This record gives sequence, structure tokens and C-alpha cells, in this order.
Amino acid sequence: MRVDSLSTPESNFWVKRDDLTHSVYGGNKVRKLERIIGAARERGATRLVTIGAVGSHHVLATTYFGKRAGLDVEAVLVSQPSTPHVIDVLRAGIGLGLRAFPVRSWVAVPFVFAARVAAGASPVTVGGSNVSGAMAYVDAAFELAEQVRRGEATEPDVCVVALGSGGTAAGLAAGFDAAGLKTRVVGVCVSDPAWAVRIVARRLARACGRARGARSAGSPARLGFDARFLGPGYGYPTERGDEATEVARRCAGLTLDPTYTAKTFASALWHVRARRAKDVLYWHTLSSAPMDLVLSGAPPPRDLSPALRRLLLDVATPIPAALG
Ligand SMILES: *Cc1c(COP(=O)(O)O)cnc(C)c1O
Repeated sequence: MRVDSLSTPESNFWVKRDDLTHSVYGGNKVRKLERIIGAARERGATRLVTIGAVGSHHVLATTYFGKRAGLDVEAVLVSQPSTPHVIDVLRAGIGLGLRAFPVRSWVAVPFVFAARVAAGASPVTVGGSNVSGAMAYVDAAFELAEQVRRGEATEPDVCVVALGSGGTAAGLAAGFDAAGLKTRVVGVCVSDPAWAVRIVARRLARACGRARGARSAGSPARLGFDARFLGPGYGYPTERGDEATEVARRCAGLTLDPTYTAKTFASALWHVRARRAKDVLYWHTLSSAPMDLVLSGAPPPRDLSPALRRLLLDVATPIPAALG
């Protein structure tokens, strides 16, 4: 949809509503998990194990969709700045039956993860960003191309999207290339270290391009990055993010989260205000389904185990980037 109140004579502000991908829990993980869970079931998996921060949307989505498909779900969880939304996401996952393995630092993650895989769980990549998950966003790019063809939207010059584990942005870059759109992707870095995520995203874009039969380096070349809105690091709210949240609510009727979409929306606003492109598309990746739907069986915060509660960090004291 085009947001009139955010558009200027020089630039149009468009939104792609991937918040509406599912009525109970939407957002960008739905498209990825459709494929990942399908593939796991074909392999005969009965139990999944994944990795994420304690308020990870990916972990919650894997729990919800995994359980619906009849699979048990486990996750190795690491710390994250605590916000009310983060606590809700954690409570919802536990309420839906997630078996959590809290660890104190990222260093421990591979060992605990490997132990769960050795115990028979089928591994799911961080953020669902393997080639199979990212390919869902190649299809999403074709969906947009179809909307452009039908005249529902103008072909975007840039598509601004959050870059967490990279699969969404990488798949879109490969997909726009394959669909013959001119659209370039700006991945807004929301996780750190940003340099590592960029490498992963470029590789994924190349792999998705190859999987679609592209021979050139068109897919990674489509993918640019914007690290200016990250602030102190993954999960830390920022002032510019808070401003963007207010603008999105007032002008577009969208609810944003501090970790991903606030920083990304801030970048999209910058692209319009700085007249960087005529048609700017903000790809909205956050579920807008009411959290009550996944929170119905959730324990109150005080019933979370001490090990889990220790993972909820005080927002006011950022950890140094080198440790994060
Ligand atoms: C996971 C997530 C992202 C990041 O997507 P990646 O494919 O991991 O880069 C962006 N926005 C929201 C709301 C998310 O939950």
C-alpha cells in the first residue's frame, strides 16, 4: 500500500504488509518456516531444535508452527535486552510448549545445540536463514512483481527491509533479480556484528540466485546495507527507532518493535526524506496479530525459571559490542 502522508512530490512511501501472513502469528518467519518445517517432516523429523535470543520471533514462530505440524520444539536461548515485548515473546513460546535450553553466552551455543542434535532433534538454522528458508523470499519477490504487473503498486527503486539473520533480504535480492525488477534491496543491520551478517547475507543471495538458475553475480549485487540505525546493538531500543515507531503509528497505522522494524522504518523514512529514490518500499516483517492469541496459555513472568530470567538484560547497560 502507498502511505500518502509519508510520500512527498519526489518520493512515494510504500509498505508491503508481511505482518498479515498469518492470523495467529504473522510476520516474515511464516513464509520461511512453511518450507523449513515441510522439509523436516519429509525427513521424518519429530523434534526440531533451533537457536535464538530469548525474545526471538523466530523461536516463537518455530514453536507455534512446529507444534501445529505435530513436532516438538527445542531452542538454545541467549540473552537479550529486556523489553515488555521480549518478555511476552518468551512467555508465549514457553506457554506453547517450547523446551528452552538457556545458555549464558554465545560461546556455549554450538555445544548445547550439537548435543540436542545428537539426541535426535532436527536442526533449524538461526532465524530460519538457510537457503530453503531464504528461497521463500525469492517467491515473495515474485509475488511483488505480480502486484506490480497488476498495477497495484509501482515498481520500487529500493526495498528497505530488516537484516537480522539475512535470509529475508537475501531472498528478496535474488528474487527481484530473477523476476527482472529494477528494485535494489537495502538490508538495515539490526544485529551484530554487522560485518558478519553482511557476509552471510551476500552468500545466501548468491546461493538463492544459483538455485533459481542465475549465472551472474546479479543477486548479491542487488543487496546493499545500512548500518546507521543499529545503535548500541541487537535488541537495544534507539531514539531514532522510537521516533520512527511514533511516525509509523500516526501516519501508517503500523505497530513496530524496537529490535527490527523500528530501526528499519527509520531507514525507510530517511530514504524518502533524503530523496534517495522515487519509489521506496518498506517491507514490514513484524506480526500484527494480537499477542493474546499466542499468550493464552503462557505462564506469568514470575513463573519463568531463574535461568531464563537471567537472560533478560537490563536495557540501560549496553554490553560492549565485542562481547555481544
Ligand atoms: C526475524 C525478523 C527479521 C529479520 O529477518 P532475517 O531474515 O532474519 O534477516 C525482521 N523483522 C522481524 C520482525 C523479525 O522477526
